[in-house]
This record gives sequence, C-alpha cells and structure tokens, in this order.
Amino acid sequence: MEKHGVKVVLSDRDGGCSLPPFDTLNLGIALGDTDENVLENMQRLCQSSGLTLPHQAQQVHGISLLHCFGRGEQHETDADILLATEKHVPLAIRTADCLPILLADPEAQVIAAVHAGWRGTVAEIAKVAVSAMLEKGAKAERIMASLGACIGMCCFEVSLDIQQRLLAVAHAEAVRQRDGKAYADLGLANQYQLLASGLLPQHIEATPHCTACQQKPAYFSYRRDAGQTGRQLSIIVLE
Ligand SMILES: [Zn+2]
Repeated sequence: MEKHGVKVVLSDRDGGCSLPPFDTLNLGIALGDTDENVLENMQRLCQSSGLTLPHQAQQVHGISLLHCFGRGEQHETDADILLATEKHVPLAIRTADCLPILLADPEAQVIAAVHAGWRGTVAEIAKVAVSAMLEKGAKAERIMASLGACIGMCCFEVSLDIQQRLLAVAHAEAVRQRDGKAYADLGLANQYQLLASGLLPQHIEATPHCTACQQKPAYFSYRRDAGQTGRQLSIIVLE
C-alpha cells in the first residue's frame, strides 16, 4: 500500500524492553506489564517506523465503530473498528491471535483498522467495516486490505459450537476437521468476507504467519501462552 500513500506497520515481539512473559515489544496496557515499559515500547515502534502515537480503543470482540480524528490517543470507548477520513490519523489494533485487518481507499481518503477474532468473524465484522467505508465515499473495488498475523489453522482448534457458528457465515474451507477435531482459519474466513463485500482478490494481502507457532519473527499468542502474554500492534495511516 506504501506506493499509494498508505503506511502499514505490523509489529511482532522483537525490539522492546519488556520482561517475560511480555518479552519484549509488548504494546498492550493493563495486562500485567508496567505502563512505563509499554510506553517505552510504543515510542520505540513509533520512532523506528516514523509514526505518531496511534488511536486505540477498548476492544471487546464486538462490531462497534469509532471514527477517529486528529492526534492519536487511548480511547475509553468500546470499539473493534476504527475509522479515519483524514491524513495523518494513525489507527491501531492490538492482537495476540485475533486477526488484524487494515483497510484503505486512499483516493477517497478513508481507512479502517479492524479487530477480528472468532466472535467478530461470526458477526461479519469485515463486511461491517467495508460498509462503513463505503458510506464515507470509498469504493469497494479500490479498497486495499492488509491482514496481519493471526493464529493459523495449524493451531486454532475450536469447539463444535464455534465451528458451527463460523460455518454459518464462512466458506466451508475456513473450518476443517483433523484427527476428529475442528480447526478454523480466521484469515481465510475474513478474506471471503472481504471478497463478498466487493474487494478484488489482487487487493488483499495476508501475512502467512501463525502467531502461535511462528518462530522468526515470533509473536504474542494468547492461546499458546494461556493468556499470560503481550500484544502486537497493527497500524494504518494515510500520509
Ligand atoms: Zn500454528
């Protein structure tokens, strides 16, 4: 997206100052890491990627949207979709297994950042985000999507209940059986939603890394680390 004036930054767990289990580039507050460490990590990430502090919201696995303006801040509002319609308004999603989706129509100057776990995927949050962008003047055939690392089908075992709820909204390929267990592919499920919303296949790029088993780079993984872990950030901004 860079050549279209859109900057995307996807962090992993390298390059920060936090100690285990948040080692080292933890960007999630109130998880048990110190606020000083998280701030230091944020400053390092912003400095190395030439960004200003991004907007963030309280992510609650819903489909609410927060329209962001001006300088970045940590909002108290619950929102799993952040949207901006101006340049220099960076939006960030925190994840540790969930799928971050970054969307941009630079011509219409509309961007969005989406937090899609299995609940968001079942609620078709990718479609909700694209619809909100269209309302702001974006055109589906121009929207570019970048999907960050999430837990892969290799590691994301789901219950029968989740399997059935995902199958109700996702392509059958997004849930598969292996050794009598069900595994879900959040990336694929959301790519199908983006295509169904009118995005072109050549405008969708996905990081092929699994947050739970990828070694280099390594990521924070809620599932692998049984909840005791940090968060990576996925950031998008129009320049
Ligand atoms: Zn894996």
